[in-house]
Amino acid sequence: MLDRNNELAAFDRDHFFHPSTHMGSHARGETPTRVIAGGKGATIVDTNGRESLDAFAGLYCVNVGYGQTEIADAIAAQAHKLPYYHAYVGHGSEASIQLAKMIIDRAPDHMSRVYFGLSGSDANETNIKLIWYYNNILGRPEKKKIISRWRGYHGSGVMTGSLTGLKLFHNAFDLPRAPILHTEAPYYFRREDRSMSEEQFSQHCADKLEEMILAEGPDTVAAFIGEPILGTGGIVPPPAGYWKKIQAVLAKYDILLVADEVVTGFGRLGTMFGSEHYGIKPDIITIAKGLTSAYAPLSGSIISDKVWDVLVRGSDEMGPIGHGWTYSAHPLCAAAGVANLELIDKLDLVENAGTVGAHFRKGLADALAGHAHVGEVRGDGLMAAVEFVEDKDDRKFFDPSLKVGPQIAAALLERGVIGRAMPEGDILGFAPPFVLTREEADMVVERTADAVEAVT
Ligand code: PLP
Repeated sequence: MLDRNNELAAFDRDHFFHPSTHMGSHARGETPTRVIAGGKGATIVDTNGRESLDAFAGLYCVNVGYGQTEIADAIAAQAHKLPYYHAYVGHGSEASIQLAKMIIDRAPDHMSRVYFGLSGSDANETNIKLIWYYNNILGRPEKKKIISRWRGYHGSGVMTGSLTGLKLFHNAFDLPRAPILHTEAPYYFRREDRSMSEEQFSQHCADKLEEMILAEGPDTVAAFIGEPILGTGGIVPPPAGYWKKIQAVLAKYDILLVADEVVTGFGRLGTMFGSEHYGIKPDIITIAKGLTSAYAPLSGSIISDKVWDVLVRGSDEMGPIGHGWTYSAHPLCAAAGVANLELIDKLDLVENAGTVGAHFRKGLADALAGHAHVGEVRGDGLMAAVEFVEDKDDRKFFDPSLKVGPQIAAALLERGVIGRAMPEGDILGFAPPFVLTREEADMVVERTADAVEAVT
């Protein structure tokens, strides 16, 4: 077994170009390859037989946990019956049509259609095109700018990499800056003026947004995109009143709202959608990850009636919409989606995400909030983060070159638990599968406290 692992690791080092990886250090063998062989529940195992409790559900996506045979069987059955047929010009498979219905049944009432893609990135690329198309059909060709937030994550395509407000994803790629703009992140812990209450800070964020819209010209701003709770930017729940105030500004200037629910869709916050959780009424919702629990790649854009009506007008005026991927609504992925949503209902996993999430976050806060180098323990539903600081009273952050966050994540991994060092700041993130038990949650807390103690 060890030989096979070594052989695979050598092939990997020499041939596999990994996403979001330090290429030089990987190619030189400084960051050894871990070959993952299998998984069950919340636990994965590598080819050396080493187990880890995956408290990040892959990349916050294996929501129903590993080894769910019902989903695997549904994919296999679909492959035997009909592996592929396209969805162009009004075609569909039984699975893709059934899944569209299941998604709309779960989506907010004012939404009625779903367009299928494969990844969160391509779904957001679709959204940008639909937003531009929408405004062209409405005779407002100058209304095209899209406002995102610093620390937002919306993918790493050409336009979606630009939407993403994290510098790592912009570095040296010459992504188009226009027509994308970034406004202030709703990151209360890192606010400059520490005398502000949460409500005041939310008002400050809404004011900043309005200033930007007025400076650009409201007739040039088409849409605002945001994750209900910032994910990759640091797992940061919105400050009190944030979404209400932001939506009031958007409504004032007739600007569409895209809720990027790639992480929060289908239960992660203990409600079917994060929009429901925070009182957001989006015009478009982006979905991916939890739609199939990553058993197969599938994403979607859920469209409100308001946007749909204009899109229909567009094709009545200009003919079919010129947008689509070969693999849109791929039957194997759709079959995975149907089985996944059925399983989430059957096992009451949305409810579990809420209750185990609350237990887990309380455990983390009890164990760590008083620690000298823990600035904040935060989260919502089954998402949590611990942010480390050099000095708690002065809220002084560690020098990034010390890599405190990655060191703690590594120490935690040595203790058999996977958390994620978030890309900006010393932040350890958690987003476990919804099948996490209370005992497993307690074990993650205990080992995290131990890892923090060992490093800081
Ligand atoms: N949107 C959000 C909120 C995400 O977290 C991600 C990925 O983590 C994406 C979009 C991009 O999804 P993908 O990696 O499938 O392209």
